[in-house]
Amino acid sequence: MKGIALHWQILIALVLALPFGLFAADYAVYVTWMGDIFLRGLKMIIVPLILSSIISGITNIGSGDSLGRLGLKTLGYYLSTSLLAIVTGLLYVNLLQPGVGAPKQPGTDTSMLEKASETSFGDTLMEMIPTNVFAALSAGNMLAIIFFAILFGFFTTRVEEKYSRLLTDFFNAVFEVMMKITMFIILFTPFGVFGLVVDTVAEQAGDAEALAAMAGSLGIYMLTVALALATHFFLSLPLLVYAFARVNPYQHLRNMATPLLTAFSTSSSSATLPLTMEAVEHKSGVSNKISSFTLPLGATVNMDGTALYECVAALFIAQAYGVELSFGQQVLVVFTALLASIGAAGIPMAGLVMISVVLTAVGLPLEGVGMILAVDRVLDMMRTATNVWSDTCGAVIVAKSEGEALKLS
Ligand code: ASP
Repeated sequence: MKGIALHWQILIALVLALPFGLFAADYAVYVTWMGDIFLRGLKMIIVPLILSSIISGITNIGSGDSLGRLGLKTLGYYLSTSLLAIVTGLLYVNLLQPGVGAPKQPGTDTSMLEKASETSFGDTLMEMIPTNVFAALSAGNMLAIIFFAILFGFFTTRVEEKYSRLLTDFFNAVFEVMMKITMFIILFTPFGVFGLVVDTVAEQAGDAEALAAMAGSLGIYMLTVALALATHFFLSLPLLVYAFARVNPYQHLRNMATPLLTAFSTSSSSATLPLTMEAVEHKSGVSNKISSFTLPLGATVNMDGTALYECVAALFIAQAYGVELSFGQQVLVVFTALLASIGAAGIPMAGLVMISVVLTAVGLPLEGVGMILAVDRVLDMMRTATNVWSDTCGAVIVAKSEGEALKLS
C-alpha cells in the first residue's frame, strides 16, 4: 500500500473491518491475531519508552523552576479541560434526559465495582510512590513509574558533571532507540486496527441483547454521550488550541490521525501512547522536552472523554431510577467524575469500573451499571479517542506557551 498516507490506510482498514466483522463473524478468528500482535508490540514498548522519555525530557528541562512552571501549566490544563468536558456532558444529559423511563436491569454482579468504590483518591495518590521501583516497572504501574522517572531525571542534573553526562547520554540513547521501534510498529497499524476492529464488531454483532437494547433508551443514552463527546472533541478543544496557541487546530487534528484512530480501535490511551508521542513530536513539532513530560502524564491522568462519560452515565442511572439530584448533588457528581477520570487507568473499560466512585458518592445503586454495560464497548472507543486528543492539544498549548516554534501554522 505504498503511496497512500498511513492514516488513510488505517481508515480503509477500519472501514473494511466493519462488513467483515458483521457478515463473516465466524472467520474473525483468522484475523484477530493481527490485532493481538499489534497490541502486544505497543504494550512491549510502553514502560521503557515512558522511563527513558521522561528522564531525558526532565534532564533537558533542567532547573527546578522550569519544571515547576511546566508542571503547573500542564496540570492546570488537564484539570480545566476535564471539568469543561464534564459540564458539557451535564448539559447534554439534562437536555436530552435519556434515562427517563429506561428499564432497570436487576441482578448485576457488583463485586468488582464495590472494590473500585472503596479505593479512595488518597490511596491512589499514595500508590504513586513505589515501594519497589522494579516491581512498579514490571507491573506497568504508570503513576509510580512517572513519579520515579521525574525524580531520577531531576537529580541526574544535580550530580557531578561526569555522571550526569553519562546518564543523560544513556537515557537519550535509549529514548532514540525506543522511538525507532515505535516507528517500526506504526507501519503495522493498518493490520493491527483491522484485526482489533473485526474482533470488536464480530463480538458486538453476536450480542443480540445489546443490539435490541440500543433501539430503545440506551440508543438515546449513546447518542447523548456521542454528541457531548463530539462537542468537546470538535469544538471546545480546537477553540482552546486556537485561543491559547494561535495555531490551526484542524491541521493539528490531521497530524494526529494515526494515534486517534489507534486510540479508537484499541480503547486504550496507554497502548496508544507510543504513537501519540511520535505524532506530537514528529508531525506537530512539539519538543521532546515538553511531550515527554506532558504525554505520559496525560495518558494516565487527563481523561476528558472518560470524565464526561462518568457524569452522563451517573445521571442516566439517576434518571432511570427516578432519583432527582439536587444542585449540590450534581456538583458532587462533577467533582467525583473528575476524580474517577484521574484515577481510571488508560486501559479498556477502566471508566466503566470507576463509575462506582460517582454512584457511591451520591448514593445511587451500583446495580445501575448493569444498564449501561451492553453499550460500553463502543462508547469506550469514542471516549478513549477524546482522551488522547485532549492530551495532544495540551502538549501543543504548553509548548506554544514556552515559546516553541511548532510545525503548525
Ligand atoms: N479506555 C479509556 C482509556 O484508555 C479509559 C476508560 O475506560 O474510560 O483512555
